[in-house]
Amino acid sequence: MSARIIDGKAFAAGLRARLAVEVAGLVARGVTPGLAVVLVGEDPASQVYVRNKTAQTREVGMASFEHRLPADTSEAALLALIRVLNRNDGVDGILVQLPLPASIDAARVLEAVDPAKDVDGFHPLNVGRLAAGLDAPVPCTPLGCLMLLKDVLGDLAGREAVVIGRSTIVGKPMAALLLRESCTVTIAHSRTRDLPAVVRRGDIVVAAVGKPAMVRGDWIKPGAAVIDVGINRMSLPDGKSRLIGDVAFDEVAAVAGAITPVPGGVGPMTIACLLHNTLTACRKRRGFDFPLPSGERVG
Ligand code: NAP
Repeated sequence: MSARIIDGKAFAAGLRARLAVEVAGLVARGVTPGLAVVLVGEDPASQVYVRNKTAQTREVGMASFEHRLPADTSEAALLALIRVLNRNDGVDGILVQLPLPASIDAARVLEAVDPAKDVDGFHPLNVGRLAAGLDAPVPCTPLGCLMLLKDVLGDLAGREAVVIGRSTIVGKPMAALLLRESCTVTIAHSRTRDLPAVVRRGDIVVAAVGKPAMVRGDWIKPGAAVIDVGINRMSLPDGKSRLIGDVAFDEVAAVAGAITPVPGGVGPMTIACLLHNTLTACRKRRGFDFPLPSGERVG
């Protein structure tokens, strides 16, 4: 193996520590940033995510408001809760855990969130602002990928970046962020012709597909930085399961210059970036959008 392993777990821990210093600076001025998380139903994976979000929110010193609603909650009731959270001055960020039950129109719910409290960056206004290159809350997973890339590579300008996947949650915002960093960006997807040849152009490759070990070693330009967003749970013969990414790790690590592992790469960055976005939203909404003498500015 030649690639440097990008330790997302350690980077996320460092980011949370810096955020905690900033939060303490705000709390000393009488402002406690608050994050509301709304979970509808009993999806097991969502329950784990929400538990982790709540715990990490409290660990950095922010207020956490958890709203767990039954699976048969009506869209009207959920929209009413969003309106209450929009008006609550102690709430700086609102996160609606996806997926929502099929009976609820997720797009309508996301659009109901106050754009100033949209810490997931999913409100159409914020999606548009990011596409226009304007300041906007950025979806947490691509923001985490960008932070890791800048940490490893420094200035990204002029690099060829290939993003595999065009979802609204990962692929498209990732491409917008890399473009904002002046990369030359290609977005590949399920209809892309000769995907290995396209990926081989990348100095940066971000895989966000949801297909276990799809990206192979001979697709990678030697020395490229490879970010594996995929989380695929594979069953093992002994009945247990393990997570693997979209990248064939051993093969790609032999060729790449740097690579994120799964788990321990992009995954831990997502919640850390959610807290980062909440702090940023708090600063803007409450008029603290300047460096605090007591704390380092993270954003
Ligand atoms: P998604 O909405 O299912 O999008 C998958 C994308 O991959 C689509 O654009 C699809 O193309 C493309 N694709 C599918 N098969 C392909 C193929 N054979 N060749 C090239 N492209 C192909 O998934 P997502 O929400 O973006 O998530 C992607 C992965 O990231 C999943 O494993 C998910 O669990 C993981 N994830 C991780 C985090 C984290 O915190 N680490 C957060 C979010 C997601 P089309 O558009 O043409 O269908």
